[in-house]
Amino acid sequence: MKRIGVITSGGDAPGMNAAIRAVVRAAIGRGVSVVGFTHGYEGIIDDEAMPLDSVSVGGIISRGGTMLRSARSKTFMTEDGRDRAVGVLRKHGLEGLVVIGGDGSLRGALCLHDEFGFPVMGVPGSIDNDISGTDFSIGFDTAVNAALEAIDRVRDTAYSHERIFVIEVMGRHNGFIALEAGLAGGAEAILIPEVPYSLMEICTDMKRAAVRGKKSSIIIVAEGAARASDIKDFIEKNTGFEARQLVLGHMQRGGSPTAFDRVLALRLGALAANRLISGYTAEMVGVDGVKLVSHPLSYVLSTERAIDPEKLLLAGVMAQ
Ligand code: ADP
Repeated sequence: MKRIGVITSGGDAPGMNAAIRAVVRAAIGRGVSVVGFTHGYEGIIDDEAMPLDSVSVGGIISRGGTMLRSARSKTFMTEDGRDRAVGVLRKHGLEGLVVIGGDGSLRGALCLHDEFGFPVMGVPGSIDNDISGTDFSIGFDTAVNAALEAIDRVRDTAYSHERIFVIEVMGRHNGFIALEAGLAGGAEAILIPEVPYSLMEICTDMKRAAVRGKKSSIIIVAEGAARASDIKDFIEKNTGFEARQLVLGHMQRGGSPTAFDRVLALRLGALAANRLISGYTAEMVGVDGVKLVSHPLSYVLSTERAIDPEKLLLAGVMAQ
């Protein structure tokens, strides 16, 4: 192999820059040159090529977001669009493509392999951590820490004013961020889409706690489980206590990646480049515990990543 491509696609995640840096430098170390495309699959179709050398990926490791920009592409969802994309990749003499992105982006990569026999390697980049085949995806740790910082700040006020705070964190389809940030922030309740909950029971618990002298609480809710405003209204109506709401939104997505995310991204980016160059294809690299792994994309995309039951149990015990 002489030349490979790299894109970041779908939702951006802190640490994607470190992954680009690792792909480029690992490939160059093997005598392989790298071409990046801006704006994900859309940028391939529009031929937004950007040759990447060691210098062009300098100074980006501490930056959130992605220097290659990211985008969603409707055109790439069509066979004609993918055909055009492969045409552009081949025009540049590329023999493989590293795709850094979430579930959808990895599906797109598998299409390039299945439909055109184009070699691809996936790198999981998603703050949601909802990708199977890896314990962590790039950006999750940074997003959890951003949510945690907000929880810690709010707790000071919640305690001082003896108030209930409902904090809504990202997670439209799952509660990975909510559970992790809720555990770390000592939340009194964590509401996630995967687990049914009773708001009435939570209200009863809060009333009991108030009798014991505990008048402030923090409730973490994943956006896919309920809206913070609805929970706040329900609590006020059923307890008579004053409650406040806070929706963290996009502040969880950006910002400088944590050391964990940077090192994870470097390891995964380098492994992806090395495996692609060694002739492997249609895989996604990941971590299993502390070990690096690589699984077939077909397996990764047909398996659901489940919430850890041990952590759920722990959250229940800690909330008492
Ligand atoms: P993420 O990668 O963060 O999950 P999306 O689901 O929006 O984000 O996917 C990013 C892009 O990947 C889409 O805009 C589309 O171009 C491509 N993509 C997503 N799903 C598919 C699919 N099933 N087949 C082909 N391409 C896809």
